[in-house]
Amino acid sequence: MTPKKMAGLNLPNTVPNIIRGEEKLAAGAATVDKLNPHNGELVCRVTRSLTDDVASAVSAAVAAQPKWADLPGVKRGEILYQVALALRQRRDEMARVVALETGKNYNSACGETDAAIALGFFMAGEGQRLYGRTTTSGFPNRMVMTIRQPLGVAGLIIAANTPIANVAWKVFPALICGNAAVLKAAEDTPVTAWLFGKIAHEAGLPAGVLNIVQGLGAEAGVPLVNDSRVAVISFTGSTAVGQSIARDAGSRLAKISLELGGKNPFVICDDADLENAVNWALLSSFSNAGQRCASGSRIIILDEVYDTVRNMLVERIAKLNIGPNDGDDFGPVINERQLTNMLAAIERARNNGAQILTGGARLTDAEHRKGFYLAPTLIESVGPDDEISLNELFGPIACLYRVANFAEALALANNSPYGLTACIHTRNLNRGLEFTKHVQAGVVGVNAGTFGSEPHMPFGGVKQSGNGSREPGTEALDVYSNLKDVYLSFDPQAC
Ligand code: NAD
Repeated sequence: MTPKKMAGLNLPNTVPNIIRGEEKLAAGAATVDKLNPHNGELVCRVTRSLTDDVASAVSAAVAAQPKWADLPGVKRGEILYQVALALRQRRDEMARVVALETGKNYNSACGETDAAIALGFFMAGEGQRLYGRTTTSGFPNRMVMTIRQPLGVAGLIIAANTPIANVAWKVFPALICGNAAVLKAAEDTPVTAWLFGKIAHEAGLPAGVLNIVQGLGAEAGVPLVNDSRVAVISFTGSTAVGQSIARDAGSRLAKISLELGGKNPFVICDDADLENAVNWALLSSFSNAGQRCASGSRIIILDEVYDTVRNMLVERIAKLNIGPNDGDDFGPVINERQLTNMLAAIERARNNGAQILTGGARLTDAEHRKGFYLAPTLIESVGPDDEISLNELFGPIACLYRVANFAEALALANNSPYGLTACIHTRNLNRGLEFTKHVQAGVVGVNAGTFGSEPHMPFGGVKQSGNGSREPGTEALDVYSNLKDVYLSFDPQAC
């Protein structure tokens, strides 16, 4: 489906905030333009929230939270179940919005929407559990247990790459735990967040429990991080911004969950099923235009199969279809600024001696030239400590590395400031298990991709990829709740 055919969508001219269940423009008149990544045309304008707008959203959350928390978890789960159900009923509309805002094709957007719905159902069910722990006491006539308690207001800040999944990943777990939330939408995907907010309220979510603010990171994200009424900040985005959030929110001892960048290794051994490995390497590096924290941007190949794999990759990349339609392999990157940064990084690598095997340039043919399209870029002859090997580019760009043996592959995989995901292709169980044990990553795949984690599983990274928290899965409940120890003493003589 092309963006033109999506004109039937009922989009607001200016995407508003949602505060206390009401659509509201920011107090100032300023807006941000949201452009279609496929053709650079204006999709809509976005209200530009500043400190006072964010404060008003936090006030709404503070006011709504106690009543929401007083509902039994089972009841909160029933309401969130209705939200997930409503999202399923409006799957087509949501997927069309996601496709329009990101330039990814409709089928991919449907897949992402389905993941968000699955997460909603999973978290709604957690309302019936929200387990604590009951254990023995060291003293007679005493019972000990832990119970989960909400934190209060959750500040949620997200990236644009998989917009509806990113919204669901944070909103459902935050709310099931009894928190109210303020979601700072990604400026590149404002409509997705707005539509989710509308669907949630129409499905019965009480006003004020989920508030959505639109705007820029420096203007709307920073005041949310700094608001002393916000008890937990959960952030998905770049490592640089994550570090600044850790400093700011850390200084007031707020709880912080950081899901950050990656430069993920994809290892192909000499005993691998090469056809399968190449299929997964292409998906890991280029699907979603490489805009995945879990993208496989470092392809590490054992010497014996290096030339074969390189030739297979080059051949297959030449056949990739780039565009916004179903059947295309990937679409544009999210905005012009990101594209310019990628092109500059490729240029610096080229000047440093890198060989560009494919791509390396913006697509300028009639079909693509108005959009933010980068040709799938495969690079070799780069050093493991070169800038292009160490820095995340968040685009359809992968580097190849030749290594002599498994030990070198593992060492190179770990030679990164990041540690989000990793994958190895091998038929040797010993290599698969040794890699799984020693690779420095929060998520490991064997004979699959660097991406593809499931909603009920905990996702997150080590090193510069995060701060050790895991979302979603039941582990997300630990981010959004406090444990309280309860000691119950009784006196058998008083019965
Ligand atoms: P970004 O860090 O620039 O922005 C992410 C969000 O933070 C946006 O909503 C932005 O408005 C906001 N923001 C920016 N500066 C801020 C500040 N100073 N204070 C508060 N909020 C601020 O990231 P991006 O370029 O939009 O997204 C790509 C990055 O996200 C990549 O690094 C990618 O790996 C990462 N990511 C990580 C995961 C994960 O789960 N680990 C998932 C998706 C994306």
